Amino acid sequence: MPSNFLSKLINDPLGDPGMMVEFLCEQRALQFDLGDLSLIKNGELLKISHVFISHTHIDHFIGFDHLLRVVFGRSKTIYLYGPENFIDNVAGKLAGFTWNLVDRYSEAVTFEVIEVHESHMVKATLKAIDRFKKSAEKEIPFNNGILIDEDRFTVRTAILEHRIPCLGFALEEKKHVNICKDRLEKMDYRTGPWLNELKKCVYEGKSDEYVLDVPSVLKGNQKKTLGQLKEEVILISPGQKISYIVDTVYNEANKKRIIDLVQGSDILFCESPFLSEEEARGQERFHLTAYQAGTIARDAEVKKLNVFHFSGKHTFRTGQIIQEAEDAFRGKKIPITKETNKTNNFINQEKLA
Ligand SMILES: [Zn+2]
Ligand SMILES: [Zn+2]
Repeated sequence: MPSNFLSKLINDPLGDPGMMVEFLCEQRALQFDLGDLSLIKNGELLKISHVFISHTHIDHFIGFDHLLRVVFGRSKTIYLYGPENFIDNVAGKLAGFTWNLVDRYSEAVTFEVIEVHESHMVKATLKAIDRFKKSAEKEIPFNNGILIDEDRFTVRTAILEHRIPCLGFALEEKKHVNICKDRLEKMDYRTGPWLNELKKCVYEGKSDEYVLDVPSVLKGNQKKTLGQLKEEVILISPGQKISYIVDTVYNEANKKRIIDLVQGSDILFCESPFLSEEEARGQERFHLTAYQAGTIARDAEVKKLNVFHFSGKHTFRTGQIIQEAEDAFRGKKIPITKETNKTNNFINQEKLA
C-alpha cells in the first residue's frame, strides 16, 4: 500500500528494541522506544519529533542519553510519551549531568514529557535553558487511548501488563493522498510546489470550493477548485496502520487489550523473546513466546507480522523463532510437548496462587 510512512527496526532482532517511522519527503520521524541507537545516523535522529517509550527497562531507554547528546544545543522541542513515573525517569536521567553553562546558550532543546495513566495523562516541561528543571506540570485529558491526533495521523496506546505498566502503540495514517503523474500530463498541468499545497489542502480537509492557482504548460496559470482537482489528479487511499508491542505477558485480558489496539494493522512489530517450549519462562518474565505473538497477530487480523526482541540466548535459533511465529500467524497448531505440558501446570499453579 502506498504510504507516507516508512517503518524500520533500529537494530537486528537480537539487539535492543526500537522502531523508527520516517515521513517520506519530510524532515520528520517518530521513534518508538530508545534502545541502543548507535546504528542510527545523527541526521535521522535529528528528524525525531515524538518519542514513545513502552517502559523504562534499560534495553528500551538506554538510548535516551544518545538522543540527548545529538539534539542538545538545537532549537527543537521533542515530545516524549511513557507510562506512569515516566516524568521522574526522564528528570532523573537529566539530573545525572551538569548543566551550569546552559544559560549561555541562546537555543537549546526542550522536552515535553507526557506520562500515561489509566484515567488521565500528566504533562511536564523540561527546558535545557532552565537546566532541565521540571515546570508547568499539569494533568491533561486522556480519551480513547489517543496520544496524538494530527491532520494526517493518530497515535494510540494501550496500557499492557509487564509486572509494571508497559505501553503498546498503534500509529494510524488517516488517509494517503497520491498525485497521479499521468493525469497531470493529460491535464497539461505542470509539476511544482503547488502540488504540496494541493496535498496539504486535502489533508487539512479544506472545502471543495477552495480555489488554487494551477500552472499549466500551454494555458499559463488557471484557477481550479479543490473539488475539480480531486477529480482530475488526486487518488485518495486509506492510510497505513503500524503497531508496536513489546515486553508483555500472555493472558486473556492482556491479549484482548493488544488485539483492540493493533486490530487490522498493515504491519505489527511484536516482541518474541522465547519459543513455545519456553512458555513457562515467558510467563515468569512477563514476555510473549513466538507462538503467542503469531496467535495475537492472527486474531487481530494484521496483514504482516514482524517479530523481534529475541532473547540473547537464541543467537542460533532466530530462524526457528521467526518460523514458529509465522506458523502460528498462518494458523498452524504446534504439537503439545512435554515442555508445554509442564508450562500448563505452571500456569494452573499460578492461577491457584
Ligand atoms: Zn525488553
Ligand atoms: Zn521490560
